[in-house]
Amino acid sequence: MDVLDKVQQDLETIAELALKNRPKGSEREAEETGYCLYCGEPVTKGRRWCSQECRNDWEHEQQRRKQNGK
Ligand SMILES: [Zn+2]
Repeated sequence: MDVLDKVQQDLETIAELALKNRPKGSEREAEETGYCLYCGEPVTKGRRWCSQECRNDWEHEQQRRKQNGK
């Protein structure tokens, strides 16, 4: 495994843990599909985004959708 991949995965795991400590709500919408939820790239099992950028963009979009839904 590439070292950078490993580092990125670790960072993502930390971010996942931080998310789990948040109040429930948004995380339920984020189901693991084997593909990046934002751009559709295949991702490692257990991951939902191919990169931190996709995750940020995806979260941003979720927030916007919520606000529009009101
Ligand atoms: Zn992506």
